[in-house]
Amino acid sequence: MDYQPLLEHIRQEIEVYAHDGKQADYIPALANVNPDQFGLCLNILDGRTYHLGASDVKFSIQSISKVFSLAVALSLLGKELWQRIGKEPSGTAFNSLVQLEYEHGKPRNPFINAGALVTADVILSLIDNPKEFFINFVRTLADNPDINYSEEVTRSELSCCNLNASIAYLLKHHGNLHNDVHDVLDFYCTMCSVEMSCEDLSRAFMAFAKSSQPFSHAGVNLSISRVKRINAIMQTCGLYDESGEFAFLVGLPAKSGVGGGIVALYPSRYSIAVWSPRLNSKGNSIMGMKALELFTSETEESIF
Ligand code: GLN
Repeated sequence: MDYQPLLEHIRQEIEVYAHDGKQADYIPALANVNPDQFGLCLNILDGRTYHLGASDVKFSIQSISKVFSLAVALSLLGKELWQRIGKEPSGTAFNSLVQLEYEHGKPRNPFINAGALVTADVILSLIDNPKEFFINFVRTLADNPDINYSEEVTRSELSCCNLNASIAYLLKHHGNLHNDVHDVLDFYCTMCSVEMSCEDLSRAFMAFAKSSQPFSHAGVNLSISRVKRINAIMQTCGLYDESGEFAFLVGLPAKSGVGGGIVALYPSRYSIAVWSPRLNSKGNSIMGMKALELFTSETEESIF
């Protein structure tokens, strides 16, 4: 099947949502992004690639980085990681800290901020040059040496990260952060600042879509069953407290970020990345979700 005509059709269908929502502005640097952009890239595992719109424009991946940090932390710690982080949907906002108190500092899952602060802590504890290691891993997955952190976005987020700092101190209080709180926040904001295009993201997530092969990239090694677990958590927790709605509408494991990116995959078939900065109240891209909903509905290719 040639997917290009379908993708062009989807682009027209979602135009009615082009001005709904607005880009994240709680991180000052993200407020400067032109919100009226849309890109998409689809990689079929047989080697075909399709592009739409601004598929080669880099944007801030933000929480999509949490999949990469989970992969690294799981490869380092193995199943011990699940003593420090749960695997249940949170049903709360990505930056909520209420559950941490009554769960004694154990985040509900690795894709809310609390959970990713713990994966960042694991990486800081066990890797000598964590920033270099992390960016090299992402570059290897995406097969693009020109992927970088944005110092501007890192600085911007660090200048206003009181809520994440509160989460980090609560984790520290409960003994679930082993490094200095400032070092963990610095690494966490740095990994969130990585800039990638839809083409980069779709290519990078092919490694998770190739779920019948062991994962071995740039020193990060995961068995088939661990890749399955990462995909399962994307399915149940990848879009924060909109993960149920996303499963209902789209039906694919996925991860979103407040930069407006969403990357989704169909195990053993394809990976697809979309980007549009205008977000809904849950922090997920409005046009991105619509495009993915239409894609799996029209192709009848969702995991359900
Ligand atoms: N860096 C962002 C934060 O911590 C990531 C949030 C997101 O993309 N949902 O708030």
